[in-house]
Amino acid sequence: MNVEAIGARVSAARADTLARGETFYPGASRIHLAAFPPKERWDNWTYLDSKRVGRRAMLVPTTCFNCESACGLLAYIDRDTLTVRKFEGNPEHPGSRGRNCAKGPATLNQVTDPDRILYPLKRAGERGAGRWVQVSWDEALDDIASRITTAIADNRPNQIMYHVGRPGEDGFTERVLASWGVDGHNSHTNVCSSGARAGYHLWMGIDRPSPDYAGADVILLVSAHLESGHYFNPHAQRITDARARGAKVIVFDTRLSNTATHADHWLAPHPGSEAAILLAIASHLIQTGRYNREFVRRWWNWAEYLASEHPATEATFERFEQILHDLYAVYTFDFAAAESGVDAAVIAEVAEAVAGAGTRLATHSWRSAAAGNLGGWQVARCLFLLNCLLGAVATEGGTYPNAWNKFVPRPIHTPGHPPVWNELTWPPEFPLALNEMSFLLPHFLKEGRGRLEVYFTRVYNPVWTNPDGLSWVEVLTDPELVGLHVALTPVWNETAYFADYILPMGTGSERHDLHSYEQYDGQWIGFRQPVLRAARERLGETVTDTRQVNPGEVWEENEFWIELSWRIDPDGSLGIRRYYESRERPGQKLTVEEYYRHIFENSVPGLPEAAAAQGLAPLEYMRRYGAFEISSGVGAVYEQAVPATELADIAEAQFGRVYTRAPAPADPNAVPVATPDGDADGRRPAGVRIDGIIKRGFPTPSGRLEFWSRTLAEWGWPEHALPGYIRSHVHPSALGPDQMVLISTFRLPTQIHTRGGNAKWLNELAHTNPLWLHPRDARRLGIAAGGLVRVETEIGYFVVKAWVTEGIRPGVVACSHHMGRWKLAGPGGGGPGQAAAGPRQVAATVDLAADGGQWGMRRRHGVEPYDSADPDTMRIWWGDVGVHQNLTFPVHPDPISGQHCWHQVVRVRPAAEGDAYGDVAADTGKAHEAYRTWLRRCRGAAQHSPNGTRRPYWLLRPLKPGKDAYQLTEEPVVHARRS
Ligand code: SF4
Repeated sequence: MNVEAIGARVSAARADTLARGETFYPGASRIHLAAFPPKERWDNWTYLDSKRVGRRAMLVPTTCFNCESACGLLAYIDRDTLTVRKFEGNPEHPGSRGRNCAKGPATLNQVTDPDRILYPLKRAGERGAGRWVQVSWDEALDDIASRITTAIADNRPNQIMYHVGRPGEDGFTERVLASWGVDGHNSHTNVCSSGARAGYHLWMGIDRPSPDYAGADVILLVSAHLESGHYFNPHAQRITDARARGAKVIVFDTRLSNTATHADHWLAPHPGSEAAILLAIASHLIQTGRYNREFVRRWWNWAEYLASEHPATEATFERFEQILHDLYAVYTFDFAAAESGVDAAVIAEVAEAVAGAGTRLATHSWRSAAAGNLGGWQVARCLFLLNCLLGAVATEGGTYPNAWNKFVPRPIHTPGHPPVWNELTWPPEFPLALNEMSFLLPHFLKEGRGRLEVYFTRVYNPVWTNPDGLSWVEVLTDPELVGLHVALTPVWNETAYFADYILPMGTGSERHDLHSYEQYDGQWIGFRQPVLRAARERLGETVTDTRQVNPGEVWEENEFWIELSWRIDPDGSLGIRRYYESRERPGQKLTVEEYYRHIFENSVPGLPEAAAAQGLAPLEYMRRYGAFEISSGVGAVYEQAVPATELADIAEAQFGRVYTRAPAPADPNAVPVATPDGDADGRRPAGVRIDGIIKRGFPTPSGRLEFWSRTLAEWGWPEHALPGYIRSHVHPSALGPDQMVLISTFRLPTQIHTRGGNAKWLNELAHTNPLWLHPRDARRLGIAAGGLVRVETEIGYFVVKAWVTEGIRPGVVACSHHMGRWKLAGPGGGGPGQAAAGPRQVAATVDLAADGGQWGMRRRHGVEPYDSADPDTMRIWWGDVGVHQNLTFPVHPDPISGQHCWHQVVRVRPAAEGDAYGDVAADTGKAHEAYRTWLRRCRGAAQHSPNGTRRPYWLLRPLKPGKDAYQLTEEPVVHARRS
């Protein structure tokens, strides 16, 4: 059946439903989900289990922790045993609407995994020797707290670092670090999405898009978004709805991904040429006059561009249009075809489809090309150029800035900006990097730029996830560089092997978090909670600590951070304790109960009223339903007129930017986030004057959409100040005759990075990552399907099996980054109550050795059936777990966005004699040379800052320091602690 026929059937089924008078599920999901238990009966619901046995359950909501979407889950808690029997979707959740992908229900595997870490562990031998002893939480907390207290007291705040992989929450831990007065936040974002973020941020002052897929006529995806995208399930279901309605889907992907198989137009460009195609489409819109003139005239910063770049020309919109026409005339379909290898006629056809979308063009680029290529950030910028040309910005069916489709409530305490700047994460070479230069940390430490006294990895596994993981092993095993490494993790991982403490953290049903993500044109909050705690409290029990209901001594992070902060400053003299004190019981410790009660009662518009309508307190409401929709149909915030109450003693700058002395509105979502610099007289930005009216505009320096970036022009990159094309480091001209491009960035839809390691259902579904190889290349190289292949990078090689397929462009190979988990052979043992220091369902057992910087990994064996408390572990039928390719990649920092450029130039050949599947070799000396080579591309703040600061203040920065810390100094800045 073709797509149109399926769409027609879905629509007909919906019409039938309505005609029969059936109502849609009466919750926030607004869709027909007749199978869902009515929420009035969630306290005591009877259902048939898989053996057709009737069971009584209490249904308690939480949110999934297995990707960034935070879909709603309902835990089915057995009323007789008070154990979780399964997880299903929560129809009260407006983002996921009762649906989940395979990874949601697999939360159950993570709860019952026999290999999970249940108790705090402390290293007993050398780092990495695999010897652990169980310790009490008190012992671990006191040790960590005393080191942090000493570092703060000794004015060494930059030696404290928290490095997060999957945040899964909106700002709790950033505020913890701010309360300590340290600039110690480090994230994974520069190995993930900062390339795309930079492209979006430069346009609109907000770093993420929020496409309204459901209302779109044309959906353009530069990624495999439909199967494994950011906000995967919530977005995929809306794309599917749009397709059923007749929307066209265009996919750029060099691989035939599952997303590409669902596309109306699939384009498989040479990696890195995506921006060239997008520019050709943009040029088509411009040359044929099929762009939204009025939108461009009103909202682009064209006047600023003309004044700066064409001062002698007439400052009229008509003149700008002529220049725009000339600027983009070079980007013809033939040019794009030559760069990309995609037929010019196909590009022309796609350009016509885009032109016909008008304001209903939903576009998205995430990771993928923006994360693969030098200059990848221009891919996102050129993609959003199409929206900006068509006026498809915050329209029905268009693409929103994400900040208008999410809601971050004010917490009970808000610490100020830290007074310090940490050059280990924000080095001067990268003043425009959107996020921390996290993946360069081992090189910075080796170069003597600093050391870490306490280093937290939190749901993060840089040894496995990052490029150049063996350089990480080298610094993590050096106590001179890393004094204490604390791994906060729900599951064993390759980085935790080299830690000093491993502290077991809860899964998605064992912890509190709050989140809100851009998944449609609306704002909602979702509440993750320890479901057994909520269930017991519903039954009248009192739970004061989540460890009382979690397995073993697994803890949640909120309580952990509160307790740790209290111990860092037990008498309050450091000014930290006040942020962890109760308001209800002055002088006593804040509880998570009070923390969330305060937010739900005071900072979420509409929630107290909705709760009261059901006779519930706001916290009780969130514990029962798990999510609340604050608004929908947010619309074009930038077009809102600024109310007179927000305009006091205003000053107007060139090109209409308006500043005010009125205080900022109390509601954090009343205005776009990330407001840029105020004016010289201390006013804050209020809006921008458009045709005589002061509108909210965008949080850019100009208040408009920035077609021309003054920031890039003034900070050393004038040649890239406009949306344009940067040839990738894997451009064909950079390849030798025997070289190919390796794409390593794609996900498997049923895997979860490290946390897939304790989800048996997912491991059964996906457990290998063969090398995609076109038959033409396979013939040329003499490689048979399933044959062993050696893939040689700049610093080493890995040995993998070939998957010969026409689903990849000739000259390009691809290998998913999700597989290739390993655990060290050796004494092992995970401490008391632990069977093995590693996830035995998905990790190969390996020997890892180094001779100087020459590392080699050889696999002893893959996975095997094993005896455990879970009989399914004896039913493991797979032995393959894939190959860890990232160890063989050097770092490739983009000099502007800071994104690691993942694509690799490789040589592919049949495995050599003696090679074995899973072999990995890497030279960390060569890795450091590669780092130095890429560093030479930078234009650092010391030479290019126009105002003596380290970074443009208006650029987003997690955990933003105070303005004083932005000043460039000879030495790293360490200001006095605020009082
Ligand atoms: S998309 Fe899947 S993994 Fe991600 S939050 Fe939703 S259910 Fe969980």
